[in-house]
Amino acid sequence: MDKRRFRTRPPEGWEPPERLETWPEVPVAPLPVGRAFGVSTDASGWLVYSWDENQEAAEFEELPDELVLRGLLKLDPTDTESVLGFLDEFGVIQARYLPSELAPLDLPLLRLGQPPAGARNHLYDAQAYLATARALSKHWAAHCEGREVAPAWREEGCIFPELVMADEMAWNYFSRCLNHGLRVFTMRLQYMGHSVPHPDLYQALCFQLMNLIIDELPPRKCANENCPQYFVRQQGRSQHGQSRTRAVKYCQPSCASAKGQRDRRRRKIRNGSDVGR
Ligand SMILES: [Zn+2]
Repeated sequence: MDKRRFRTRPPEGWEPPERLETWPEVPVAPLPVGRAFGVSTDASGWLVYSWDENQEAAEFEELPDELVLRGLLKLDPTDTESVLGFLDEFGVIQARYLPSELAPLDLPLLRLGQPPAGARNHLYDAQAYLATARALSKHWAAHCEGREVAPAWREEGCIFPELVMADEMAWNYFSRCLNHGLRVFTMRLQYMGHSVPHPDLYQALCFQLMNLIIDELPPRKCANENCPQYFVRQQGRSQHGQSRTRAVKYCQPSCASAKGQRDRRRRKIRNGSDVGR
């Protein structure tokens, strides 16, 4: 056989892969995230969590549904109090942010150096992880709406090298940052409760987004024009634990009723002015 010909020409029946593929191809059950009793910063901005007496997470809890779209996109990662509140409510982030392995964010130098005893990373690290998670989420929403994806990263402070196709680069960041967060979830054997991975908040957000991608249900914007919410399934009024996905225009029932009331009010004003004419 002519080996060279075989290498340059694909075997018969071979089709080029689609641009986006996932493995696995079915959603996976989520794992709970570790939460502390509280989180604060020391005078230099290092993150200090309060743990139980064994220095372990106070509790493990699953993220609320679609937090990666709903709550995360409302968060301002540059606001210290909001970030601390988010970590407090949903889970810890204790890793250092490595721009060379994740997205090239321009982080302040203050976070370099050794954290003091009891701290493992700086507020800037947590902010960078949350900004990256937001960029991932916004990238996916933009892609599903047929928009450019690079702005999602630029808006979160990500640097693009000159002379590159920005959207191609953004896809590079997307797969790199998402897969980085998914590393903790591997096939494994668990013997008597040992070897169970404990994802941090960033990893759990990546996991949530990955399941949405696998589900092939595009995020959509709430049809209530006063609500900036992206969502996949409507919350509330769900039956048998299933949230509605088909023909749903509003992120929650109260948005539908708010919109209905506003439309009625508008019609009233319009009809009123017709009468006066
Ligand atoms: Zn809404």
